[in-house]
Amino acid sequence: MPLYNYELIDGECKICGGKFELRRPVSRTALDECPLCRKPVRKVIAQIHTPKILKPVSVSEAKSAGFKIYKRRDKGVYEQL
Ligand SMILES: [Zn+2]
Repeated sequence: MPLYNYELIDGECKICGGKFELRRPVSRTALDECPLCRKPVRKVIAQIHTPKILKPVSVSEAKSAGFKIYKRRDKGVYEQL
């Protein structure tokens, strides 16, 4: 079962702390309220595998790190820099 992160859309909750994790079967419909306090919640995209970027990365830095930089020009058109 995947683990989902939820946060309150509005207000605060002393029961769940305003943010909680829950394991749910994929087949279940999306949770739209906190099971503890019944306030509306939304799913938060888990950021487990997102590397922390401490400072803005420049194009040249990204290039030297081996990234290919694409600049979006038009609908679906990317230009390689
Ligand atoms: Zn709650």
